[in-house]
Amino acid sequence: MAQISLKGVRKEFGQTVAVKDVNVDIKDGEFLVFVGPSGCGKTTMLRMIAGLESLTDGEITIGGRIVNEMSPGERDVAMVFQNYALYSHMTVRNNLGFALKARRLLTPGEIKRRVERVAEMLDLSELLDRKPRQLSGGQRQRVALGRAIVRDPQAFLMDEPLSNLDALLRLQTRKELVELTRELNSTVVYVTHDQVEAMTMGHRLAVMYDGEVVQLDTPEAIYRRPTNQFVAQFIGSPPMNFLTVTVCESRSKLILKGDHFQCSAPDNLEIPVGQSVTLGIRPDDLDLVARGGFAATVSVVEMLGSEKLVYANAGDDSLSLLVPSSATVKNGEQVKLKANPKNIHLFDPTTQSRITVPPESPASF
Ligand code: ATP
Repeated sequence: MAQISLKGVRKEFGQTVAVKDVNVDIKDGEFLVFVGPSGCGKTTMLRMIAGLESLTDGEITIGGRIVNEMSPGERDVAMVFQNYALYSHMTVRNNLGFALKARRLLTPGEIKRRVERVAEMLDLSELLDRKPRQLSGGQRQRVALGRAIVRDPQAFLMDEPLSNLDALLRLQTRKELVELTRELNSTVVYVTHDQVEAMTMGHRLAVMYDGEVVQLDTPEAIYRRPTNQFVAQFIGSPPMNFLTVTVCESRSKLILKGDHFQCSAPDNLEIPVGQSVTLGIRPDDLDLVARGGFAATVSVVEMLGSEKLVYANAGDDSLSLLVPSSATVKNGEQVKLKANPKNIHLFDPTTQSRITVPPESPASF
């Protein structure tokens, strides 16, 4: 497996700038996920690594070789797509072995051994003589994966490979894919718009917005310290709540005051009194309390199983919070809410960038 390096990568389609100055070093054996909303440039980025799209500017290296001018075949990477693109007239065995036969580098005996080993790895041994139409969606996706693995490429490039599977199969295949790529120590570049998939699969995430990588870090670091309001809202489910607050002074202490609540400001907050900031709080960092906190009216309660998702209005602000499913809370009820003081996020309302709040001096409500 190989390291992949993206330096100043840019792609224009006429007037559209699909990818702008992307710089990412993907380590050998790393599972890196490009994640972002539709149209942010993820697929274009992956297609440029694969050699299916040329670069307008920048450089891509795979295993230390600059590949800008190389054909997809010369790059020695394997793509796995959302639509499995299996050959419908061929058996599973021939689908798996096709690329190896075409390259004529191995003897028929070696091809047979490799195909059977990969089939065993993916639990496809019993299905080798079937045609794709005789397989379930999950089995077809495993064949598509097997076809990539059997080539023993320098890296796997995967574009939403699980999106055609139903919810349960998707969960199962997600786990299998992570286990398998870990076992093979594969370098994987994975594209998805699904932030849960990204968070659960990636060693690191490259969060894309409008052609740019806006944050590159581990899932946990991105969740805990999102670099701007877009990332804060996009990563994490249900999404973060945002409130406009003003920095005020009360009894010679700084506080953050909203229309219907207030909290003490973090220490060392370098924002002048009177300035507005955007406060972010995740639904799992808001609690229902008997006393204290701020008042809100429950508008909707959704039973999720182990938790309830509660929507509540505090004045004009609409908030969501997760509570244990045993909590009794009803539509229309007046409740008190309190935020976990360690976990507020502050953003500049103009630039939407994170305002650094020192982790050692959290705000307290
Ligand atoms: P999705 O999740 O919807 O697939 P994406 O993040 O993968 O989206 P891309 O498919 O990379 O986004 O597209 C990025 C931008 O480039 C979009 O504005 C798209 O319309 C544009 N684009 C992509 N391919 C082409 C093309 N061949 N010609 C012109 N514009 C293109």
